Amino acid sequence: MVKIKTAEEIELIRESALVVSKTLGMIASEIKPGVSPLYLDGLAETFIRDHGAEPGFLGMYDFPNTLNMSPNAQVVHGIPNDTPLEDGDIISVDCGALKNGYYGDHAYTFEVGDVAPDTKKLLEVTKESLYVGIREFKIGNRVGDVGFAIQQFCESHGYGVVRELVGHGLGTELHESPEMPNYGKRGRGKKFADGMVVAIEPMINMGTRRIRQLKDGWTILTADGKPSAHFEHNIALVDGKPQLLSTFKYIYDALGIESDEEKEFRQDKQTV
Ligand code: MG
Ligand code: MG
Repeated sequence: MVKIKTAEEIELIRESALVVSKTLGMIASEIKPGVSPLYLDGLAETFIRDHGAEPGFLGMYDFPNTLNMSPNAQVVHGIPNDTPLEDGDIISVDCGALKNGYYGDHAYTFEVGDVAPDTKKLLEVTKESLYVGIREFKIGNRVGDVGFAIQQFCESHGYGVVRELVGHGLGTELHESPEMPNYGKRGRGKKFADGMVVAIEPMINMGTRRIRQLKDGWTILTADGKPSAHFEHNIALVDGKPQLLSTFKYIYDALGIESDEEKEFRQDKQTV
């Protein structure tokens, strides 16, 4: 069942999402060749606790760390290890935080040093597909409209849209109803209503959409070994329109990137 949130609850989720946004901003300033995912994971855990929150993923379904860190051909759910990042890598970092009983959960795929142009393109298109999907999260639409839009956009670039993993509702639980697939049919699925809060998170492969899982029981990889990207935002439906609760602002500040991509999903009263 979909849990409709009050305005107060939405503010609490925004607070948790803000902790994650700032954590990813801190990670952005630390990512470079030679640094290990495990080191970054330790920084993230300390940072989250210092901000009055708990790591949202640590211990969830027995996951051993604070961050999901998935380099290159890893799609999601990578376990941070001590293998140093290399120039030209990409790494998807997914982070959760629990504060005041509510979860924030979002993700960004980072470039490490100099990344090949076709990989950069995958990152750009995947991030754009996230906003293409968010625009469809509005009154009058259904779950299938978001998935349809993301799928069409990514497939038009020749990319593979992962089917086995999906976005979700978000609140007092990390994964709530409804499931938010990155594929679908127009006009199908659950109808959207004010007070819904969801995580939309396209997982897009440069090649085949097929995936496999490592024996560690967590790590998801592309079946063909080509790169994969993952971007995730948390969004509330307010007055019929999508409103971002998470932000990439802190990442962009750390990386010196100018962007107004989030502007259309914000309201004046918002401070981020
Ligand atoms: Mg999620
Ligand atoms: Mg996530």
